[in-house]
Order: sequence, then C-alpha cells, then structure tokens
Amino acid sequence: MIPTPEQAEIFRRNTELSELADQVAQLMKHHRLTEDEVTHVVRDVLVAMTPRDESFVDRVKSMTRPTAGRTWQATLTPTGGVTLPSEIRQHLGLLPGDSVALQVQTDGTTVVRKAVPKTGQLVLALDLEATLISSAVSQFPRPMLFEFLEHCRALFARIVMFTTIREERFRVIAKTLVDEGSAPSWFQQLECVAWTGPTKDLRFIPNCAPEDAVLVDDLASYVHPGQEERWVQVEPFEPPFNGSDRALEKVLDELEERVRRQSHS
Ligand SMILES: [Mg+2]
Repeated sequence: MIPTPEQAEIFRRNTELSELADQVAQLMKHHRLTEDEVTHVVRDVLVAMTPRDESFVDRVKSMTRPTAGRTWQATLTPTGGVTLPSEIRQHLGLLPGDSVALQVQTDGTTVVRKAVPKTGQLVLALDLEATLISSAVSQFPRPMLFEFLEHCRALFARIVMFTTIREERFRVIAKTLVDEGSAPSWFQQLECVAWTGPTKDLRFIPNCAPEDAVLVDDLASYVHPGQEERWVQVEPFEPPFNGSDRALEKVLDELEERVRRQSHS
C-alpha cells in the first residue's frame, strides 16, 4: 500500500524524532549536560528548522524530558513540611536556599515553580542599539522585547539605560516603543546613565559598585577593562531582521543565573 503524503510526512517526522532523541541522550551522557541545557539546545535547533511549528517543538521537548509524565509522592510532616524529590529539584533547577512558588491556576491545578528572588542589590544596565532595538534610526524592536523588559523588572530592583544615544532622544524612542505596545510604559521613565569616554565604565552608575552591576551590550569594545565579568554579551540585532531572533531569551537565562548566583553568595 502506498502511504498518503500525510502518512509519509508523519513517518519522516517520527524517524527524525527518534534519531533526535538518540542524539540528545548521547549529548546528555557525553557532555554531562543537564536536561534544561539539552532542552534549550534542542529547542533552538528546532525553532531554526521549523519556525512555525510550535507543537512539533513542544512534542520534542516533552519527549526529551525523562521526567515528563511521571508522578512522585512525598509525605507531609506534622508541621506541614515536605521534601521535594530530587528529580523535581533537578527539574526545577533548585539549589539549597532557593524558594519555591506554589500557584493555584484558574483551572484548579497547582503549579510548583522556582521563585526568582529580587536581590535588591544587582543593577541592570541595558544598551539600546543592536541590543533592545535595531538602531536609533530604524527603531525596530527586537522580538520578545516587551517580555524581556517585564522579566528584567521582576528580577532587578533597578534598571538603567547605558547607551550612546542622548537621553532626550532615548525618551522619544522609548515613547514610540511604548505607544506601539513593544515596551511596557515604565520603560519611558528609565534612568539614563550620564557617561563620557570610550567605554561604559560601570562606575558611572550613581550609587552602585561595579561588582553590583550587570551590563547587557552587544559590543565588547564598550566593556571597561577589568569589568569583563560584569558583561552579558548579546548577539547584535542586525539586518536581515529575523522574527525568530531569540537572543533576548538567552540573555534572560543568563541574567536569571547571575541573580541566582548573587543571591547565593
Ligand atoms: Mg549596541
């Protein structure tokens, strides 16, 4: 019997999926990658391969997750305490000292997440051009800009703009981004760092020690000598602009990791 084109397509995909699952298993073994790291790699690859097929990506994500579909039980102590199974701790990336957020969804299910602490200490310094938007001229917002900014706001007690663009110009650009729904309204009021010289020396940020600041910038040449550790590099947002650009998500992962490290140190 000759398969229909749909059947042939399903067969092709299933073959690809099982080959992919084998490769992922080998990756995890050889590189000692965590499940989250592998999921990220697989997701990036798949998003690049099939930008429109989210369900396919989700299927692979769930297939490559050995904990998916499993249930654990833990007994409550008389005081209401419970030990989270190690698989769940690993799955959520929990370390001793982390907080857990429990949320009751509207459908009645309860979701367990890692609570991301506000350090109240780390200051996030953001570059503008080729980091958040294309340039001050074209002003294309980078994909996921709104979500990125909102997450940053939850992570950091203070956010500043550290850009070569003059403050008055930034305010105008920010207003446009807010008006078109690409940035949350508070973005217009962000503090702008006044600075001079060839590098973005974090000592220009008022009332902030350089070791308490993180700079997100696409250009290495702006990083002040000796402050390389404080820099989170972002791929430049440049033509040809691509709707599947996920650089801000990657930056967010790195920022969460830094906030977590800071709160553990
Ligand atoms: Mg830049």
